Amino acid sequence: MSSSLLKEWKLKNKGESPEKAISKAPENAVFPLSRSQQRLWFLQQLHPNSSVYNYAEIYTFSGPISKQDLVKGLQAVFQENDILKTKYLLEEGMVVQLVDENSVLEIKEYDFSGYDENTQNQKKEDVFARDTRTAFDLTKAPLVRMSVLKISKSTHILLVTMHHILTDKWSMGLFREQLAKKYSQSIKGEILNEKSDIQYTDYAYWQKENGIRTDMIAYWMEKLSGTIPELDLPVDHPSTIHHTFNGDSHIQHFSEELSKKMLSLAKELEVTPYVFFLSAFYVLLYKYSGQEDILVGSPISNRNEPILQKMIGFFDETIVLRSEISPSMSFREFVREVNKTAMEAFSNKEAPFDLLVKKLSPDRVLGRNPFFRSMFIYHSVPETPSFGNDVELTHSFYDNKVSKFDLTLYVAEENGLLYASFEYATDLFEKRTIERIQEHLKILLEKIVDDPNQHISNLDTTTEWEKDFFFSDNSRQSGPYDGFNGIHDIIFKNSIEHGEAIAVSFGDEGITYHELKNKAEAIARRILKHTKGNKQIVGLCANRSVDMIVGLMAILKAGCAYMPIDPEYPKERIHFMLEDSETKVIVTQEVLKPVFKSYTEKIVVLNEEECQSAEEASNFDFPSVDRNDLAYVIYTSGSTGKPKGVPISHGNIIGSTQGRLEFYDENPSVFLLMSSIAFDSSKAGIFWTLCTGGKLLVSEKHLEQDIDKIGNIIEKQGISHTLMLPSLYGLLLEHVDVSQLRSLKTVIVAGEACLPSIARKHFETLSEANLYNEYGPTEGTVWCIAHKVQMEDVTSNIPIGKAVADSQVFLLDKNLKPVPYGASGEIYLGGPGLALKYLNNPSLTKEAYIESPFEENAMLYRTGDLGKFDKHGNILFLGRADQQVKIRGYRIELDEIERTINESGLLKRGVVTVENSNLEVGLDDLLMDPQKLSLYLENNLGEDEIEELLNSIANLKEDEKEFLLNQIK
Ligand code: AMP
Ligand code: MG
Repeated sequence: MSSSLLKEWKLKNKGESPEKAISKAPENAVFPLSRSQQRLWFLQQLHPNSSVYNYAEIYTFSGPISKQDLVKGLQAVFQENDILKTKYLLEEGMVVQLVDENSVLEIKEYDFSGYDENTQNQKKEDVFARDTRTAFDLTKAPLVRMSVLKISKSTHILLVTMHHILTDKWSMGLFREQLAKKYSQSIKGEILNEKSDIQYTDYAYWQKENGIRTDMIAYWMEKLSGTIPELDLPVDHPSTIHHTFNGDSHIQHFSEELSKKMLSLAKELEVTPYVFFLSAFYVLLYKYSGQEDILVGSPISNRNEPILQKMIGFFDETIVLRSEISPSMSFREFVREVNKTAMEAFSNKEAPFDLLVKKLSPDRVLGRNPFFRSMFIYHSVPETPSFGNDVELTHSFYDNKVSKFDLTLYVAEENGLLYASFEYATDLFEKRTIERIQEHLKILLEKIVDDPNQHISNLDTTTEWEKDFFFSDNSRQSGPYDGFNGIHDIIFKNSIEHGEAIAVSFGDEGITYHELKNKAEAIARRILKHTKGNKQIVGLCANRSVDMIVGLMAILKAGCAYMPIDPEYPKERIHFMLEDSETKVIVTQEVLKPVFKSYTEKIVVLNEEECQSAEEASNFDFPSVDRNDLAYVIYTSGSTGKPKGVPISHGNIIGSTQGRLEFYDENPSVFLLMSSIAFDSSKAGIFWTLCTGGKLLVSEKHLEQDIDKIGNIIEKQGISHTLMLPSLYGLLLEHVDVSQLRSLKTVIVAGEACLPSIARKHFETLSEANLYNEYGPTEGTVWCIAHKVQMEDVTSNIPIGKAVADSQVFLLDKNLKPVPYGASGEIYLGGPGLALKYLNNPSLTKEAYIESPFEENAMLYRTGDLGKFDKHGNILFLGRADQQVKIRGYRIELDEIERTINESGLLKRGVVTVENSNLEVGLDDLLMDPQKLSLYLENNLGEDEIEELLNSIANLKEDEKEFLLNQIK
């Protein structure tokens, strides 16, 4: 953290602090561990053999360095800092630190200068690995390892490894400074004794004497109250309980110009670079997550007193920085807020993190910090001290490829140049994703520098390639159905081309295309008697049969739109639909007639004897339709009794169907139609098959409830194509002899998310068939995004794919701006497949449709679904933004049900949820992996688990166990 901020805070608190200054502890004092140290000690006890808390830095000297004086310098630094000679013991139920005056610093020297480069590197790595990956025993001093490697006459490497309990990043800067000084003294012939009176032990003693300030605890209890939102990062692999904490990092250096601009803007805004970059990080996280309440962790160095700033030791504390981001704020205003938050947090930083976890007991997920998943660090790299004019020193820290958090932004300034490095969990992120986050960070910083008065919502991070990708126009120029205005015209054309082919079959019954046309026209003429040629909505209520399809075609032929009514719908729903759509004419079957009797007289009964002459029939003029005329209306959603009508035009369904000819490898020869015609998913089978001359096989009612029967039908009828819910397909593969399914060429799953396990099963058992995932709300005319599932997809979320059938698909945030590539956004749809409104419902229309921010006179439909782009440019479905769920294919809005229940007055308050089996997590898994466990515990100190753990650690002595337990109680 920045020292100037610290100063600022100190000035602010001047005179208020009741704390005594640090002084020498009494002669015979027993020295406790500092609070930060206690945590590390504790974690090390749990896994004595783990090296996670080893801290290593590599110094490379180029030029003429005197190895002898370097060694002398190191010994002198060792002598002057008690902390380097300290060991940690459990004595009478308390952990104490003891400076072991007898401890000896062993400096290992290696000469690799005689080897070739490859061998040198190998040997170097061996030393590094040995030093850094060997655990320290905290009861034995020193907890320091030094190795000096001669690489060539002019190149030497110093590897310094310490246990974290005695050092931190700041300390390493002090270490370098002291080393340079002692080195130069040694060269000059005399090393001076400059040992400070006050040592780390005095600090630890002083800290304990001062106790914990209750006002600080109170501050955090307030600040961290309420729900702690989980940061929604753009992960490539959803987190599982199997955290390995494997990590990697990715660095980007900013140009001198940008660095300068950023630093001077920070100055102008009167904040430290720490606050400036923290604010930018918040905005970046906001852009990615859409969340307005964001918690970020930040390690800070707890060196309040000037004397501590010169002291080597472990002073790290973690603070939680919680900020509200309001998109309508300018960056300038936001920075001020963040500054305030940071100042408050710093001035309350001495509240131990683990105590807060205990007090607040937030929801915890195994292996995760309970407050934040993301970390921010700003570091101003101290100037490298000089080891003589001709010697160049570079230093780096040894990357042990661990990422304690999901994503850590580390910004550093070195000689006026800035760089940003992301440390990320490789379990969650792929490298390319982090590279993109870096690109977005850079654009964001450039935008901020350009105009800090911009509203956060307007700080656009879209890159050039994203613009091309998000807004590419893939609409079709022409297609085979261009010359047609009505979907039925395309189908009836087949009565000429394949007149004798079977169009529709049900059970033993089947009709040819020719018959379909004749029958449909005959009924159309009867419909027209009621409609008088007016284009209107006609209800279609039929049990599953050939007639059901005939009736549908008849309504279209009469120039009307059909409104499918499932005969199994409750009476109230049927009445609601009829009223809402103002439907006056019904096409139905004799048995269902009574349902409508009370409602209308205008009923056309299917399959009634015709009494028209052939001549009359052939001369009949049917109304012609145009593309804007409605083809059908589907009532969807709102299971509480208020469904809404989605009106689909001929243009919509023609475009939707034409898209299939482009997307699919093969048209259906025999399509098994299982869904109810009241679902829009049925349109895929009906129109695709009939437009392309295939056979539409209508299954009997509730076929989906008899898996064996589905298998039999597929086998017997030689089904080539079908569409069903993925869950049903999973059952089919599970329970049916797959040899029965061999005729299947194309299986489409749609309507709900396809689980990887189902896709896997598909490739294991029926890989010769193609599996497709179709996505689309009714409002988007059956489908708008689709994907041919690939074998390599099965390991994670199965994509829904790319836009199809001329659809436009956008992933937008709440401000209707495209989310950064890879982030989760709400799916918005546009293009010719879109129904432009709800029937007779302007208010619902207004809720769900918006004017396109990207195109004049165009509408977008807000699906309420969340999605993100994967690395192949496919969209992944991420669930709902609202409470809508799908149960066996039905759209159900939980909040609507909840409202209805609560309005009924029968209950005090009801909550509606869908029962899902939840993951039960145990500790067994963690126990297997010491590194994982200690990181987990560092983030989640919970009594029960720890007690359980302690009991399971065999080599722990009774008194140690007791002490540990007391620590957490
Ligand atoms: P419907 O209007 O009945 O077609 O339902 C549309 C909704 O079903 C979408 O908004 C999604 O929530 C869900 N849905 C449809 N297809 C898929 C799919 N392939 N994967 C995941 N969810 C889907
Ligand atoms: Mg659908």
